[in-house]
Amino acid sequence: MARPQPLVAGNWKMNGMLADLAEIEAVRDAVDAGGGGGAEVLICPPATLIVAAAKLVQGSRLKIGGQTCRSEISGAHTGDVSAAMLKDAGATYVILGHSERRASYGETNAAVRARAISALDLGMSAIICVGETKAEREAGRATSIVGRQLLGSVPAHPDPSRLVIAYEPVWAIGTGLTPTNADVAAMHRFIRGEIERLVPAGGSDVRLLYGGSVRPRNAAELMAIADVDGGLIGGASLDVDDFMAIAGVYREDVKAAASA
Ligand code: PEP
Repeated sequence: MARPQPLVAGNWKMNGMLADLAEIEAVRDAVDAGGGGGAEVLICPPATLIVAAAKLVQGSRLKIGGQTCRSEISGAHTGDVSAAMLKDAGATYVILGHSERRASYGETNAAVRARAISALDLGMSAIICVGETKAEREAGRATSIVGRQLLGSVPAHPDPSRLVIAYEPVWAIGTGLTPTNADVAAMHRFIRGEIERLVPAGGSDVRLLYGGSVRPRNAAELMAIADVDGGLIGGASLDVDDFMAIAGVYREDVKAAASA
């Protein structure tokens, strides 16, 4: 059965000045020249750059997304942005429930679900992040934690083509550590089963990303794991060559599959 197009998403976090729009132009040109040819490629810069970044990618295959949003459309929420504002600025995706936001701002599963609903209702795509801490994994609770996060944060009846789940073990983010391929495979198999249960109409088409210290040196093996439909890339997305090397792992796969 044909799999949905993989997604390689860069999360710039709180990095990026106006001068760094040149990086977005460089990724845009690489993507439009066929780099990452088999994957959809997305960059989520800080909110301050979205308007300018979205203008730069008009007519390009490169997409621009936000890193979080609130569920309300507007209101007295100092410092926050809504999904409607992200869309208005030109974003087509939003990352929700990243572990850094869950940890720093106490974002709950219910808040993540409400935010996902607001983004999906506006026609945007939502990337919902889940993942266990080191202590939870060592206590044998990784799947129960991830299962609870999925149950609490995935909206009922989403459009499966616009829902993305990113499995990001908290202990692998920015540390250079990654789970074994077997552990990634087991968790993605578990997530697929849960998503098929939570989203009976099309759960098998929801893209499942792996995130956590993906680098050019380990991208090909991580992205080749069953039920890994792409990656959420933090640190390595700040370097155009590294990011495109990661996105580029899909070129050969797709060509090979097409010519098989
Ligand atoms: C992330 O923050 O989503 C992430 C995966 O970061 P890194 O690639 O730096 O581990």
